[in-house]
Amino acid sequence: METIKRQNKKSSGKKIFFQSPKGMRDILPEYQFLWEKIRDEAVKIAGEYGYLRIDTPILESADIFERTGEGTDIVEKQMYFVKDKKDGSLVLRPEGTAPIMRAYIQNGLNKIAQPLKLFYIGPMFRHESPQSGRYRQFHQAGFEIIGADSDPIYDAQIILASFRLLEELKIKNLVIQINSIGCKHCRLAYQRKLQQYYKNHQNKICKDCRARLQSRPLRLLDCKDEKCAPIKSRAPIILDQLCGQCKKHFKNVLEYLDELSLSYNLNPHLVRGLDYYNRTVFEIFSNTPQFSELALASGGRYDHLSEMISHKQICAIGGAIGMDRVAELLKSSDIKPLPPKEQKVFLIHIGDEAKKKGLSLFEELRRAGIKAVESFGRESLKSQLKAADKSRARLSLILGQKEVFEEIIIIRDMKSGAQETAPIKKMVEEVKKMMKTQ
Ligand code: AMP
Repeated sequence: METIKRQNKKSSGKKIFFQSPKGMRDILPEYQFLWEKIRDEAVKIAGEYGYLRIDTPILESADIFERTGEGTDIVEKQMYFVKDKKDGSLVLRPEGTAPIMRAYIQNGLNKIAQPLKLFYIGPMFRHESPQSGRYRQFHQAGFEIIGADSDPIYDAQIILASFRLLEELKIKNLVIQINSIGCKHCRLAYQRKLQQYYKNHQNKICKDCRARLQSRPLRLLDCKDEKCAPIKSRAPIILDQLCGQCKKHFKNVLEYLDELSLSYNLNPHLVRGLDYYNRTVFEIFSNTPQFSELALASGGRYDHLSEMISHKQICAIGGAIGMDRVAELLKSSDIKPLPPKEQKVFLIHIGDEAKKKGLSLFEELRRAGIKAVESFGRESLKSQLKAADKSRARLSLILGQKEVFEEIIIIRDMKSGAQETAPIKKMVEEVKKMMKTQ
């Protein structure tokens, strides 16, 4: 930050602080292990349950989202457009499901044994109002099951994979919230009933809800405004309006969850930000202070999304874990994973000849699988020893002109300060031996 400030002062006379874009964050080296842990667990769970990895581009044609998320906030208000000279508008993908369905159709993935279980990890972009746990660039690990009938067993399997991933990351007090938003038919009947109910209370609801009442009645259930809470609590619930088939579907999902011993809470107010969902919708929370309001994972069934891309029905269900929220939760929790304890050596040189030799010794250590760090740019012994201390190296390897000439090296135990000399030829052997001792 300092350097950037100084440079800018010089060139323009003004103080400018360059910062990451609003709602977007750097993941610094000290937290990389945490992110690595989340990615590793996701890959592990995906492998165990038979999900195949897929990566789609970060940029997609805006049209895909405009078709599949028409009228939703995510698509109408939160997309980042990127101008493309030839192909019209591209956007930074706001979510992973529609691109995966696009890839499934485009690449004829229906020819592989179905249903196809796919898994992805990557950044998503939504122009939201940034706040704790809500960012404009965030990362998801997601699971999708595409190409089976609308079979409720897959709903249970998606919830299972999402739940197990959070559980394997040692997140405590997990709660699954689940609802069914029915099919086009029962939803329509329910929406009318909901609209009628809210119309009778129009003067008691917030401005946003008055707008939702006309355009997106289901989103009335999503309102967090306290003013609307009493009205919402008495609103008709969709589970009472489900048609026979949707009712049976939802009952089966719950039975499968029972079979898996996954407990859940029915939440009749649960709807999703994208309108392509039908039947099962779910969110997973952790009842941990400060995090209990933020869904760690969410998803649902989307049997009609494919029709918006290719006019053909391909039933599917998916869910995604919010990796940023999981990382924040782990960082603040008492069960946070610790960075792996790695043993390092620090190479110290005194003089030009030793510096040159140090370069090839560094290579030799790497080839032998010994993690080495150095500060070749510093010349004084004192400052290099200081750097070695900071790096928390287990041993320092010290090389001066005399050592280069005699083909020996000093090995210093950074904890006890004890030093010994070994022939360079035996450096690797000696280092390995000393690292094994306490
Ligand atoms: P969605 O694609 O909206 O179903 O979101 C799936 C998961 O991604 C959510 O349960 C959150 O954990 C996470 N998520 C969604 N939006 C954001 C955001 N703006 N910032 C951080 N995480 C998010």
